[in-house]
Amino acid sequence: MSILIIAEHDGVQLSPSVQQAVTAAQAWNSAIHVLVAGNAADAVAKQAASIYGVERVIQANALHLEKPIAEDIANLIVSISQDYKVILAAHSSFSKNALPRVAALLDVAMISDVLEIQGNNTYVRSIYAGNVLTTIQSCDAVQVLTVHGSNFNSASLTGSAEIISVETPSTFNRTQWKSEIRSQSERPALSSAKIVVSGGRSLGSAERFESVLSPLASKLGAALGATRAAVDAGYAPNDIQVGQTGVVVAPELYIAIGVSGAIQHTYGMKDSKVVVAINQDPEAPIFQVADYGLVADLFDAVPALTAAIQ
Ligand SMILES: Cc1cc2nc3c(=O)[nH]c(=O)nc-3n(C[C@H](O)[C@H](O)[C@H](O)COP(=O)(O)OP(=O)(O)OC[C@H]3O[C@@H](n4cnc5c(N)ncnc54)[C@H](O)[C@@H]3O)c2cc1C
Repeated sequence: MSILIIAEHDGVQLSPSVQQAVTAAQAWNSAIHVLVAGNAADAVAKQAASIYGVERVIQANALHLEKPIAEDIANLIVSISQDYKVILAAHSSFSKNALPRVAALLDVAMISDVLEIQGNNTYVRSIYAGNVLTTIQSCDAVQVLTVHGSNFNSASLTGSAEIISVETPSTFNRTQWKSEIRSQSERPALSSAKIVVSGGRSLGSAERFESVLSPLASKLGAALGATRAAVDAGYAPNDIQVGQTGVVVAPELYIAIGVSGAIQHTYGMKDSKVVVAINQDPEAPIFQVADYGLVADLFDAVPALTAAIQ
C-alpha cells in the first residue's frame, strides 16, 4: 500500500509545502504518490514529478477542478483511496477544508497538524495552541492527516516520477465556485516569505501600521504580518494575521513590533529561524521566543532601524 499526498497549487505553481509533505511521508518507507487535481495543470504535475522521493504523480483533469471546492476534491480522493493506507497533505486552509471530509467519508479519524511522525501510526501533535504536546496513535485502516510543514525539511527537486491520469468523478452540484477577490500586494506572499515584519495593536491605527511598518518591510523585501488584535482593530487585513487562527509562518527572520507574544500568536511564528522583538515592556512574553530583543518605543526604534538599513 502506498502513501497519497494531496498537492496544493494555484494552477501554475506547486506550493513549496508539498516538498515538506513528501519528507513527512517518507516515515512510512512506502511508495509516495502525489495527486494533482486541476484543469490542465500540466506544469504543476511536472513540478510534483520532480520532487525527490515521489514515485508517481496522479493527475486529475476537469473543468470543475480549475477552482476546486472541498466537496469535489474530497470525492476525487475517496474515488482513488482504496490503493492507499495514508492520505496526507501539508496543514493549510485548503487541506483543513478537504481532508476532514475525506476522513468522514471513509469513516476514519482526522489527525490534524502533526509535528512528528513516529513508527506504528503514532503521531505527536500540539493542543491548546502549542502549550501541550500529545502523542496519539490511530488504529484506523486508512490514516488521514495533515502535517505541520515547517517541522519537515523540503525534499529536493531532483526526482523524475511518472505522471498518470485518473478519471474524475462528476462535480458536486450543490456548491459552486463563483469568484474570488485576492488582495493585491507587491510584497512576497506571507506564508513563503523569507522575512516577515509583524505589527501589533500598539501601532494604534491603520495609517500608522502602514507608515511605520511598510518602509521597513520594503527595505528588507519582507512580507507584512499582524496580530489578531491588530486585525480586529481594523489596522491590518485579516489575510495577514499570523497565529493559531491565522497563517503559520517559518521565515528566516521574523521581526515582531509592538507584539505582546500571546501563545496564540507565537503558535504561528515560533518556528522562525531568527526572531527579533521590539517592545517597550521588558516583561512582554514575546522576549521568551526572541533571539534578539530591543526594549524601546517602536515609534522611535522602527524609523531609526529603517533609516540605518542601507
Ligand atoms: C481562540 C483564540 C485565537 C487567537 N488567535 C490568534 C492568532 O491567530 N493570532 C494572534 O496574533 N492572536 C490571536 N489571538 C489573540 C491573542 O490572545 C492576543 O490577544 C493577541 O495576539 C494580542 O495582540 P497584540 O500583541 O497586538 O496586542 P496586545 O496584547 O495589546 O499587546 C501590545 C503589545 O505592544 C506593546 N507596546 C505598546 N505600545 C508600544 C510602543 N509604543 N512601543 C513598543 N511596544 C509597545 C505592549 O507592551 C504589548 O506587549 C487569539 C485569541 C484566542 C482566544
